[in-house]
Formats: sequence, structure tokens, C-alpha cells
Amino acid sequence: VLQKLIKAEKLQTVSHLAASISHEVRNPLTAARGFIQLLSNDIPDDTRKLYSDIALKELDRATEVINDYLTFAKPAPDREEIININEEIQHAVNVVIPLATMNSVEIQLSLLDEEYFTKGERKKFQQCLINILKNGIESMKTNGELTISQSFKDDHIKIDIQDEGVGMTQEQINRLGEPYFTTKEKGTGLGMMVSYSIIKSMRGTIYVNSEYGEGTCFTLILPIFQNKSYSA
Ligand code: ADP
Ligand code: MG
Repeated sequence: VLQKLIKAEKLQTVSHLAASISHEVRNPLTAARGFIQLLSNDIPDDTRKLYSDIALKELDRATEVINDYLTFAKPAPDREEIININEEIQHAVNVVIPLATMNSVEIQLSLLDEEYFTKGERKKFQQCLINILKNGIESMKTNGELTISQSFKDDHIKIDIQDEGVGMTQEQINRLGEPYFTTKEKGTGLGMMVSYSIIKSMRGTIYVNSEYGEGTCFTLILPIFQNKSYSA
């Protein structure tokens, strides 16, 4: 099932999202505060443990939302930069290595020898790569491989991120990128929405090719920025 992901109507919802995101962060923070406040009461040790566990869980929840959403904290576009694609992939891989290790996932990275450049906001591109790599790792319950490979054609670079995870049904593929669509117990359903929006802003495209029970491949197509002598 090969599907082009960027859909205008999905992206429209993104701009209306800031308000509801602040809810998503504020609610767990408010809950955490409440339970921390209760800790100052005279309460038995096991209740104290319970309350602090809940507070920590709520704080983790807030962190998750911010992690997936970080780039939208600043709605106004930042300055565009010339991005070294290899460097950014390498960096994103470094960020997710601890998660991969925790999930017994092996990361296979094969970069092109020659360096290619594209244009966009570097931090946002990072966020997009990290969100997709994270999903790949999280999709694999038992030892699996996450393979990142590259190729280029004419004036575009192609990045494939292939996992051996649970895969997606057609229904799930259709909903991919919808705000809050998640199949995970602790998911935010924000990672893919953020990724679409970022790749769109870079005038690129995301494709997904997924087989339920087999695995998923996300493909990013990005325009190559030709003039390497450019200095920002
Ligand atoms: P979250 O990861 O918090 O659930 P995302 O927006 O990152 O939110 O992903 C939304 C949903 O898309 C996931 O819950 C999962 O169902 C599906 N998904 C995304 N990437 C993959 C993947 N590599 N393999 C299987 N399912 C995926
Ligand atoms: Mg995710």
C-alpha cells in the first residue's frame, strides 16, 4: 500500500492546534501539581509513593507532548538555512540510539558518500526525522532492524526509513497525520502531523508504504539545494 501522505485538509487543522496543545500540556501539569501538594499532608508511606508515582507519570505525559510537538511552539517561520542532510540524519540517529537500545532495535545507517544539501529550518527537520525514527523503533516489539538509506534522482534526494514492526492497516494509513490519532497507550498522536507539516514547508513529500504485520517504510523526498558555495 503506497500512499502519498500530504493532504491539504489535514494540514489546515494544524494551524488551529496551538490552543488545544496547550491544554494537552496544562492538564497533566495541573494534575501533577495537585498530587505533589497532597504529599505535604500527613499520609501513609504507600499513599505517598502512589501520589508521587502519579505526579511523575503526569509530568512524563507533558514531556511527551512537548517532545513530539516542540517545533510548533514557535508558529512564525524561522530563518531558512542550508541543511546538510547527512549531518542531520546522523544527529537524529544519535538522539534515538538510547530508545533503540532499550527496545533491542538495531539501527542500520547507510549514507551517501557525497554530501547533499536542502533548504529549511534545521531544528524542524531534526524534529521530523526524530519523530519518524521514534515511530519505527516503537513499532518493533521484538528484536528488529531500523534501516535508513538514501538515494538521489535529478534534483531530489530520497530518504527511506524502513522498520520491521507491526505495520499499519489501510484504515490506520488513512488516519496517519490526523491530530491525536494514535494506537499507542501513551501516544500523543502528534508526531506524524508535525512531520507532514515540516516536510511540506520544505517543499518535500512523505510517502508511506506499510504492510500490516510486516513493517513500514517512510520515504522523504526533498529538493536538493544546488549551490554549495552559498553561505548563510
Ligand atoms: P504516536 O507515536 O504518539 O502514536 P504519531 O503521530 O507519531 O503519534 O503516530 C501516529 C500513529 O501512526 C501511531 O500511533 C501508529 O499507529 C502509526 N504509526 C506511525 N509510524 C508507524 C510505524 N513506523 N509503524 C507502525 N505504525 C506507525
Ligand atoms: Mg510518534
